[in-house]
Amino acid sequence: MTRRVVLAGAGHAHAHVLKAWAGLPVAGVELVVVSPHALAPYSGMVPGWLGGTYRFEDIVIDFPRLCERAGTRWIKAEIAGLDPQHQTLTLSNGECLQYDYLSLNVGSTLVPPRGAFRAQILPMRPLADLHDRYEEMLSQWRHNAGDQPLRVAAVGGGAAGFESLLAVLRRLRLERPDRVVQGALITRSPTILPGYPLGAQRAALKCLQEAGVDLQLGTAWCDSIGDCSDWVLWATGAQPHAWQREPTMLGGLAVSEQGFVQVDSLLQSVSHPNVFASGDCAQWVSPLPKAGVYAVRMGMVLAQNLQAVLTGGPLNAYEPQSEFLSLLATADGKAIASRGRWSLSGRWAFWLKDYIDRDFIRRFSSLELPYAQAQGESR
Ligand SMILES: Cc1cc2nc3c(=O)[nH]c(=O)nc-3n(C[C@H](O)[C@H](O)[C@H](O)COP(=O)(O)OP(=O)(O)OC[C@H]3O[C@@H](n4cnc5c(N)ncnc54)[C@H](O)[C@@H]3O)c2cc1C
Repeated sequence: MTRRVVLAGAGHAHAHVLKAWAGLPVAGVELVVVSPHALAPYSGMVPGWLGGTYRFEDIVIDFPRLCERAGTRWIKAEIAGLDPQHQTLTLSNGECLQYDYLSLNVGSTLVPPRGAFRAQILPMRPLADLHDRYEEMLSQWRHNAGDQPLRVAAVGGGAAGFESLLAVLRRLRLERPDRVVQGALITRSPTILPGYPLGAQRAALKCLQEAGVDLQLGTAWCDSIGDCSDWVLWATGAQPHAWQREPTMLGGLAVSEQGFVQVDSLLQSVSHPNVFASGDCAQWVSPLPKAGVYAVRMGMVLAQNLQAVLTGGPLNAYEPQSEFLSLLATADGKAIASRGRWSLSGRWAFWLKDYIDRDFIRRFSSLELPYAQAQGESR
């Protein structure tokens, strides 16, 4: 009898699973991918696209194409609910999908504030929704007839807020050199880039200063920020999707207090071992930062473990990298490189980032390249 594995979400980890499957499919197993968006942006290149360095088509993995190569079925839909007892998924298109094994790699979201303030909000997550909203806001800006300065505030002082703000300011200033664009970065934290080495934080401060950004540390969001801004880039901490926070949609699947799917070191759900979860939507044994580098590395282990449960082999434990090379683009042709307590910045760091990121995308678009286990990634 044919067994069915459902991969929910066109995330970074599932891209690896599909690539591995293309080279080594398991007989008698149907692999089905369910995701609402065909084109999955690679997070490392998103700020470069926001800033106009890359075209959108340069930074995405084409999932239906990847599915075709892997000989798997692609369903354009969202998971609306889950019943792990009966091993079924309810999809947004009304379909009910049975599975033997389920893998969740649905990323995360943000819940930006709603209020009567004047600013337009651009939530930085989910990445797949960012494209249409940003293009719409850019188009308004191109045709804006006013002469007042445009005020852009980023909320969130982590890597996403920092990189996105610099990138968006660059793009807006390039598009309309005749207009003044002001930038502000608002963060509750007492430092920029918490968790990064001091040298990287100092380099980031210098970049913000050069871009004329008003940095407001130790400041919490309030509606008056929305009244004093035209655009707000919402880049606070990742949150689980609404259905992950709704117990009736989960059928008893174990989730953390916030709603992230709790997995063990093998990436299996702690309540239902035939459900795997990886990337942002998962909460590993101890909580990890929500970063694509972890999703990518989990993808390699996930690919092996799905093969293992289907063929009866041993499962591998995922071990998060204790340190990784972080490369933050600063939208001026340079990047800040850091690893552990070490940091340096310059043009060479952007060239390295550009090379690593393009290579990552190439691996999923080229038919010729073999699947490599030892992969590079950058933040
Ligand atoms: C602006 C910005 C820049 C960033 N830059 C970096 C960086 O340089 N390096 C880094 O390591 N991290 C970066 N991050 C973090 C990174 O984006 C995430 O950690 C990463 O994308 C998580 O990958 P993932 O595989 O878990 O999910 P994603 O890549 O987010 O993919 C999730 C997929 O699931 C699909 N999906 C969503 N809901 C459903 C559903 N209900 N049913 C089915 N499918 C669904 C989505 O359409 C999407 O295809 C950045 C984040 C932001 C916001």
